Order: sequence, then structure tokens, then C-alpha cells
Amino acid sequence: MSRVVDLRSDTITLPTEAMREAMASAVVGDDGYGEDPTVAALEARFAALTGKEAALFVPSGVMGNQIALRVLCAPGDVVLCGAHQHVVGFEMGAAARNAGVQFWTVEDDAGVFDLEEVAGALASEADHQVAVRAIAVENTHMYAGGVPWPSFELAELAALAAGRPIHLDGARLFNAVVATGESAAALCAPATTVMASLSKGLCAPVGSLLAGPHDLIERARVERKRLGGAMRQAGFLAAAGLVALDTMVERLAEDHRRARRLAEAFAEALPEADYDPATCRTNIVSFDHPEARRLVADLAGAGVLGGTVGPRRARFVTHHGVDDGDLERAVAAVARLRG
Ligand SMILES: *Cc1c(COP(=O)(O)O)cnc(C)c1O
Repeated sequence: MSRVVDLRSDTITLPTEAMREAMASAVVGDDGYGEDPTVAALEARFAALTGKEAALFVPSGVMGNQIALRVLCAPGDVVLCGAHQHVVGFEMGAAARNAGVQFWTVEDDAGVFDLEEVAGALASEADHQVAVRAIAVENTHMYAGGVPWPSFELAELAALAAGRPIHLDGARLFNAVVATGESAAALCAPATTVMASLSKGLCAPVGSLLAGPHDLIERARVERKRLGGAMRQAGFLAAAGLVALDTMVERLAEDHRRARRLAEAFAEALPEADYDPATCRTNIVSFDHPEARRLVADLAGAGVLGGTVGPRRARFVTHHGVDDGDLERAVAAVARLRG
């Protein structure tokens, strides 16, 4: 039997040889004393890439998001965001427990927001409702199928926000960079803070980064410690992160090309899903299907692993560990679903 094609997530990617070599020879120190030169280099690199003043290396994307909420908001504050964002549904209620914030969710089925709905929410203060303190967005938008936000969409939202800070959950920011052809700095310009993951499509083993203004990142450093996320000789991990940023961004285009091919196969095999493969612009194939769980189970039986992100929503993610041969086996298994 041929090997399993694992499309559960891009988090399963393994570090490259170059990463392993960089990790083995990394120069490290105690980052608690600010003495790890490799961590400092990674933070400076990410700040420069995103056009922000400073950055902080954190153990995970969830922690990056949580720290951002803690520095942008006080407990009881309201954060406006999309109903299907990671920070709402996929962080175990951390925003309530860790940051003490409440969400005001807007519809985000297509990945981006309806600005009229946002304007209504922001104006609610006039109706004796709680004021929206900050806004959180996701680029690419995972649940919607890896939908990239072009910078103009975020700029329009920022104009509406009228000075309220925006946190950009850019776990897959570099997928958005590749899909839109815009620079990370351009995509992040309207945002106050941005988080990006090194451990998804970029293949580093561990870590995310949070960037923003100096004063917020200094406060973020304190919050990271409060959450137990301060690390010591973390340069071993940062070394892999530097290789990720240097060498793994452009190849994401291959993941996007393969995802589109898979999206077309699903659209053809499952007309009842009414899935438009043109909405697949990065590395996530995600669509509603009345029997999503059965579908995922059937494909697993055929050696193609995916998952569900909602009771009737299937998701398949392409990544560095999936080559053209794997993808064609997945496409063949999808085609057999129809028969
Ligand atoms: C994966 C993901 C995160 C969290 O990253 P972890 O490193 O798994 O904690 C946050 N936001 C989005 C959109 C993600 O896909």
C-alpha cells in the first residue's frame, strides 16, 4: 500500500536539513537576560519584514494572540472579530480566561468582513452598548479556506476603526504574501500588532512571533513571562525560524498550486457541496458538506487524512510534506468518492 497522504494540517511539517544544521550550530544565551543573539536576530528580522518597531519570539501562535489581546485590552473590553476566527473558536476559550475580553463577532464566511456590519457594531456605543476597544482579523483566514486579505481590505477596516488598534492573526501571513504578491509590511501596515507562525507552512519545529510598537512589545515581554512563555536558550529554536523566513516563503506557492488542484477535484466529485475551487487561493481546501465527518472518514480509509473544523465543514491542508505524487493519490481518492 502506498504511503498515507497527510493533509490534516501544515503544523505536521518537519524541520528541513538546513534547519537542523542551523539549530546544531546556533549561538545561544539566556534570553531571560536578553543574551540570546539568535533570538534577537530573529525578532529583528521579523520586525523589519513586517515594518514594525519591535518583535517578540513566543512559543506558539495562541500565546502570541493572547499576549496581543492582553496588551491591547483590559479585562472586560470588547474585541470585534470574525465569528470563525481562530482566536474565537480554536483557542479553548483562552481570550476569556487569559485576557478577560469579550468578543463581538461579525460574519466572516468569505474570510473578510462586511464593513457595514462592522460600522454598525462600532457605533453601538451610542445605544448604551459596550464600546469596541480593539479589532482582530486573520490573514489568511483559516476557516474560510485560507482566504488572503489584500492590504486595501485591511486599510478600509482601519479607516473605519478610527484609531482603535487592530491585531492581525497572521499565523499564515506568508501564505498571504505569496498569494497576493504584496509584502508582509504592506499587508501588516494597517495593523497595530501582528502574529505569524514559523511552525506551519514554514516548517520550523516551534515558535511564532509577535510584532508591534516598541512600548507594546516591551509590555508583551512581561505578559509572556506571566504566561510562563519566557524561554532560556531559545536560540536553538530561533535558528530554525531564521532559516524558515529566509528559505521557506517562496515555496509556499507550490502548496497553493497543489491545494487548488485538490479543490478542483473536490468540487467535481461533490457537486452537492456547491464548492467554488476558485476560492482556494492558498494552502487550505475547506468547504461545507452535509456529511463532512463521513467524507473525512471515507478518505482516511483510502489513505488520505484530513479533518473537520465544524460539524459540516471539511478541511484539507497542503504543505511541504506533500509532493505531486502524494497529491495525485489524494486526487484519485477524491474522484473515487463520486463512484
Ligand atoms: C494555528 C493557528 C494559530 C495558533 O498557532 P499555534 O502555534 O498552533 O498555537 C492561530 N491562528 C491561526 C489562524 C492558526 O491557524
